[in-house]
Amino acid sequence: MTIDPTLMSSLMMILVAFGAAFLAALWLACLVWTWRDIRSRTRDPMYISLAVLVVLVLNLPGVLIYLILRPALTLEDGYQRNLEEEALLASIEDQLLCPGCERRVHDDWQVCPNCHTVLRKECQHCKKLLELPWKVCPYCATPVPGMKIEIAVDEQVEPVESENPAE
Ligand SMILES: [Zn+2]
Ligand SMILES: [Zn+2]
Repeated sequence: MTIDPTLMSSLMMILVAFGAAFLAALWLACLVWTWRDIRSRTRDPMYISLAVLVVLVLNLPGVLIYLILRPALTLEDGYQRNLEEEALLASIEDQLLCPGCERRVHDDWQVCPNCHTVLRKECQHCKKLLELPWKVCPYCATPVPGMKIEIAVDEQVEPVESENPAE
């Protein structure tokens, strides 16, 4: 059995054509992938065109080079990281500071251990910690001794006639 040489060569042609089509598709896919990937990592048009150019010229090895050199963080990652850093900063700023020495104190401390500034006082009745300006315990309604409670004085006594009696 002999194979017709023209059939053989046309088979080869088809194989080569398929191979070329496959390579072209691969190349295009690499380009599209790189284009998408770089755009999720930078908005700089120079970087974007550089990345696409590398893959355009070098094809698969270009993708390898791009993978090594691309920015590590996507824009979204960077955004998330910024948010986390901001939250961390905010939580640090939320920490209570001693008014005397500016060191960090806990909100259940009575006295600053560093400079002995009084931070809170104890309710005489229920022993809960009260803020210094409070005049009454919000937990048990016991007035804080030494602090005058200003009772709402809406209904004042009739104002004295200011007709100036010393005429
Ligand atoms: Zn202090
Ligand atoms: Zn109390």
